[in-house]
Amino acid sequence: MPEKIDYSDKPRRSIAFIGSECHPFVKTGGLGDVMYALPRVLAKQNCDVRVILPRYECIPWKYQEKMVYRGEFYMGLGETGREYYVGIMEYIHDGVVYDFIDNQEFFSGPKPYYSLVDDIPKFCYFAKAALAALNFMDWIPDIIHCHDWQAALVPVYLRTLFAGSRVGGAKTIMTIHNLRFQGIYNIPTIRYWTGLPDEAFDHNCMKQNFVDANMLKGGIAYADRITTVSGTYAGEIQTWEYGENLDAHLRYHSGRLSGIVNGIDYDMWNPAKDPAVVYPYTVKDVLKKKKKNKLALQKELGLEEDEDRFVIGLISRLTDQKGLDLVNAVVHQIMDEFTEVVVLGTGDPWYEDAFRYYEQIYKGRFSGCIQYDEARAHRIYAGVDALLVPSRFEPCGLTQLNAMHYGTVPIVRETGGLKDTVEPYNKYENWGNGFTFDRYEAGLLLDAINRAKECYFTEKEKWDDMVRRDMEKDVSWENSANQYRELYLSLTQW
Ligand code: ADP
Repeated sequence: MPEKIDYSDKPRRSIAFIGSECHPFVKTGGLGDVMYALPRVLAKQNCDVRVILPRYECIPWKYQEKMVYRGEFYMGLGETGREYYVGIMEYIHDGVVYDFIDNQEFFSGPKPYYSLVDDIPKFCYFAKAALAALNFMDWIPDIIHCHDWQAALVPVYLRTLFAGSRVGGAKTIMTIHNLRFQGIYNIPTIRYWTGLPDEAFDHNCMKQNFVDANMLKGGIAYADRITTVSGTYAGEIQTWEYGENLDAHLRYHSGRLSGIVNGIDYDMWNPAKDPAVVYPYTVKDVLKKKKKNKLALQKELGLEEDEDRFVIGLISRLTDQKGLDLVNAVVHQIMDEFTEVVVLGTGDPWYEDAFRYYEQIYKGRFSGCIQYDEARAHRIYAGVDALLVPSRFEPCGLTQLNAMHYGTVPIVRETGGLKDTVEPYNKYENWGNGFTFDRYEAGLLLDAINRAKECYFTEKEKWDDMVRRDMEKDVSWENSANQYRELYLSLTQW
């Protein structure tokens, strides 16, 4: 159990989180989880936190109806020659204040993101409106914590157009949750929507090659600190292989770059009190209850019901990042009569089709759930024995943390946060959290799965020890939030 720290006598700082998604309002991936969990823990660690988000039309009505009108104003935007409406709607929950920037022109429709044609103007507007809203509300934070490319213009605006305004004195942190997405578009378009001065379109700032502006690159150049969501990923992105064309820029700014690994929210992910799980459990009865949950899951998904089968789960966006080509390459070798596989995810059609196909040919042993379903995800974490995360790259990864917390053994590639959070199993010392492989090769994935199977079927006591060890591993936000708090303090020594 982590040691309890008393934060009441620690220095208090105010932080504005700016980002494009946040559970439970809108979430497409791990960013939404972080934007939810981190502010809540920071609030408990004596921080004053406000989260600024777009008020998307797709936010469920049960939250929209609880929002309170906080004010409105009009704001010029770039070279558009128009004044744009900025409404502020507020919602307070668990010590955290959520301010939603309202503008139907930008945030309508059933999804938060569309193509860059829509999203570039949307987030040029959002970043500026968020800063203008802080000035308007007269809530001037010590730190502005910006997340991913959608908020990357915030440090750039802050040090240029907002430099003389009240919010201009705040320090900024740019957190990269996934370097693959950077917000790149041609310079004239971004100049038109932002009205930023020439210096922002310099090679040291946003300019990339000869024609494009890269919003994340600008955020990295202007932020006071840059963080990413694991130490290993912070190192990897400075290499050509993982740097997504920004490796040189990141190497140049490496003195300000560090990694802090994500945690998971123990209220949202608690196998003892999870309303979605059929047989809730703790570390004391995990072995018995996991079998019951396995049977319930098999029944729910139409799989052959047998508590002794080795059931492997995969919960993921179905994209190249997640190593699904490796999975495709080894499926036929995994599917023996003692093994079942459950996939939950949506994404690229060729992967969706592949998993539907396996469900057809391995009837009763393979389940391909092509859907986004939070409750089912919880039941899968509770019911499967092992979870596959063979990612090509993984900034932090949350699924392996969820899995361990539910007593499910992760099988992961040693990259990014997977490497930092899953200690490889050592059968001689009976230690470790899961099965790992290093190079991105199908044969090595198959080998890791086979090692897991061998342990499960022939060294059950050691497997069970690992299940209990994983459940007891501290993967909470407490420790990581404390590191962010220290970072905020180091930037604001007065
Ligand atoms: P990424 O942010 O790259 O998608 P992460 O591992 O950081 O990956 O976070 C994924 C989060 O989304 C996890 O909480 C996982 O449980 C959840 N998730 C992913 N796919 C689905 C799905 N199809 N249904 C429900 N939850 C999902």
